Amino acid sequence: MFGAWCPGEDVAKLAYYGLYALQHRGQESAGIAVSDGTRIIVYKDMGLVAQVFDESVLSTLRGHLAIGHCRYSTSGASVWQNAQPTFRATPSAGLALGHNGNLINTLELAAGLSAAQADGDGGLVHPAALKGTSDTDVLAALFANPPGGLAPGGLGDAAFAALPLVRGAFSLVFMDEKTLYAARDPQGFRPLVLGKLARGWVVASETAALDIVGAAFVREVEPGELISIDERGVSSRTFAPAQPKGCLFEYVYLARPDTTIAGRGVQATRVEVGRTLAAEHPADADLVIPVPESGTPAAIGYAQASGIPYGQGLVKNSYVGRTFIQPSQTIRERGIKLKLNPLRDAIAGQRVVVVDDSIVRGNTQQAIVAMLREAGAAQVHVRISSPPVTWPCFYGIDFATRDELIAGRSSVAEITASIGADSLGYVSLEGLIAATTVPGERLCHACFDGRYPIPVAAAERGKHMLEDVRS
Ligand code: SF4
Repeated sequence: MFGAWCPGEDVAKLAYYGLYALQHRGQESAGIAVSDGTRIIVYKDMGLVAQVFDESVLSTLRGHLAIGHCRYSTSGASVWQNAQPTFRATPSAGLALGHNGNLINTLELAAGLSAAQADGDGGLVHPAALKGTSDTDVLAALFANPPGGLAPGGLGDAAFAALPLVRGAFSLVFMDEKTLYAARDPQGFRPLVLGKLARGWVVASETAALDIVGAAFVREVEPGELISIDERGVSSRTFAPAQPKGCLFEYVYLARPDTTIAGRGVQATRVEVGRTLAAEHPADADLVIPVPESGTPAAIGYAQASGIPYGQGLVKNSYVGRTFIQPSQTIRERGIKLKLNPLRDAIAGQRVVVVDDSIVRGNTQQAIVAMLREAGAAQVHVRISSPPVTWPCFYGIDFATRDELIAGRSSVAEITASIGADSLGYVSLEGLIAATTVPGERLCHACFDGRYPIPVAAAERGKHMLEDVRS
């Protein structure tokens, strides 16, 4: 997610490069909204940023204000209607909205909208209130119909009135014709940062996107903060007290290694986790290899701390996307085989420690162990730089149900047997938290221990809840 307010700059291109830097956060669809101060144009489609946009499309997106989004679906189907930015016309202005995260009171908000529009058909969601079937559409409808009606202050005041009603994970960039806005939920589950350009401002999901567009990091958008950016500069309002619970999984997997969270580089955290992993789960082995790319820093740390040589043993096809982030099991399974190939000369006859960032369903690790054995590995010891993922996430990662999580239904010994490894070791939750240097009480680690920072009602737990309600 990316936003730019910068007169005199080609903001659509800035958004394009920003999204390019953030492609890892969502690969299903991409979109950019741009305004020249009088009207908003949105262009979005299914696919990667580079598939959706080319020079000719970007050249039609003129203005000084833009937001961009690449989607990874956790609410609503992966279809064009749910691609972002979401656009709505409100009585006073246009609204384009990009959302990273996942709301946990989507149905409650939709019911409130329905009640507020009592002339509707009495259904849970007023048909006119939503354009798509995602929590983001509910959010856009709420901003267009805030409690107490549209205020004279326009979209900023509408969002300020509506945001305290919204629960769950939401890092937002949104805009009307003249102003760029950014907001972050009180827990700050997902990252969001503010950067400065010579002639303007940018907001982005990760600091790496600031680097790519040449913006200087200013600060994180605070949990519970709404900021507005226009020709008067940046102004800030607090819509709810901060109760920080940043996502621990950002450090493990989601964020780029060259991103900084809470003042610490993600790469440094991951290397440190690898060192801890070596201390907690040593192995008698000849070679440490990563599952590229997200296992690489922890493998380096493991090799440093254990003294076992580090090497490359698996080659990744960089043009294949992340495997568990894809929307269907069929695509995920094919994706694993497309993605990795062993280096037989490096592996043959070696006792190998292979370091990966996480085990979700177990398909990837089973395939990797089999690949390494076929390549002649004498032993395969799997080390994981996160604790077992035993609980689903309701705050913006689609781990699906507990039953689909291999660690939710199997012991470590059973998983070791199921993936075919000689041994398996996960870093401890304490070890992972210590490596972030953030106090554990300021982090969400619910997928590892089931302690959800905000409770989630059973009815609010389905990815397709709005589609189910409509059908
Ligand atoms: S449950 Fe896990 S993945 Fe979800 S926000 Fe919390 S730490 Fe992150």
